[in-house]
Amino acid sequence: IRDTDGVEDHQITVCVRKRPLNKKELARKEVDVITVPSKDRIIVHEPKTKVDLTKYLENQNFRFDYAFDDSCDNEKVYKYSAKPLVQTIFEGGMATCFAYGQTGSGKTHTMGGDFQGKTQDCSTGIYAKTARDVFKLLKSPKYRSLDLVVSASFFEIYSGKVFDLLNGKAKLRVLEDGKQQVQLVGLCERSVDSVEEVLKLIQHGNGVRTSGSTSANAHSSRSHAVFQVILRPRASTRLHGKFSLVDLAGNERGADTSSANRQTRMEGAEINKSLLALKECIRALGRKGAHLPFRASKLTQVLRDSFIGEKSKTCMIAMISPGLMSCEHSLNTLRYADRVKEL
Ligand code: ADP
Ligand code: MG
Repeated sequence: IRDTDGVEDHQITVCVRKRPLNKKELARKEVDVITVPSKDRIIVHEPKTKVDLTKYLENQNFRFDYAFDDSCDNEKVYKYSAKPLVQTIFEGGMATCFAYGQTGSGKTHTMGGDFQGKTQDCSTGIYAKTARDVFKLLKSPKYRSLDLVVSASFFEIYSGKVFDLLNGKAKLRVLEDGKQQVQLVGLCERSVDSVEEVLKLIQHGNGVRTSGSTSANAHSSRSHAVFQVILRPRASTRLHGKFSLVDLAGNERGADTSSANRQTRMEGAEINKSLLALKECIRALGRKGAHLPFRASKLTQVLRDSFIGEKSKTCMIAMISPGLMSCEHSLNTLRYADRVKEL
């Protein structure tokens, strides 16, 4: 965990990850329109046509805290995004890490782990890597004396409703008490003693998440999945720190608001609302006294305690599909990520 060379300390970190062209894209000879010329820059080479019909490429430049090209693996992305935040929860703060991007851009690959055929190897994802380092720090000389215990919860937010993935998709009620604390009534919180136990929970939750749906990707593109690692003192139920890792709904779904299908339209509106509220809540984290519009969506309401307090830290990983056909969505993703940190 000491290996943090070149890793900066920010309250808000925004990075971008470009995945490689996949088999389908390669088969249809899709052009890669994204380049990552340095460790913090990414360029979209957008094809345009002049009035006289000559074609040209317009280069759109973006700068973030870090930019990862298609040769980077999950370990490297983790090192600069979620890993520096693990310490935060030992020091009594809240940490959040969001994977943002269009469906198919690599959110689940990054957070949940790599797919080997149809089965997912969750040990390669940021959920598992975070848990690994939480257990490492738990035993470190610096934090051992705190005598903390680790637990985990896993839920999803679908169409403005919350479902417990560790309890057969039970629907959870969101309760706001007088002290502005937000609670998920009855949310399962499993105590865990090892990374292996965490892996089992992730695997189980992933299975529950997609059970009953015709296509795993069709369902996950419309729901936010939230995996949490929680620290409490052994002798009490008081919260010491919490790390929330979020695999967001596909951002292209926010545009479904003109669909002919009413259900799709409502889901699209909810996703759009939650992603806009999320951006404002992260922005508010960086400014003292800024208005926190957490009530604007279920996602931000549920994560409210992550957006308050000077110790809270957050990072966003914006995922990019490199193909020409994704160009428009990639630009939308980059503009959104840009706004998250813009002063
Ligand atoms: P999302 O969750 O954003 O919809 P996925 O994580 O499911 O996208 O990724 C879509 C496909 O691309 C999957 O088959 C996944 O294995 C593959 N993929 C995503 N990111 C990478 C990467 N960095 N390297 C290799 N394959 C990737
Ligand atoms: Mg996914």
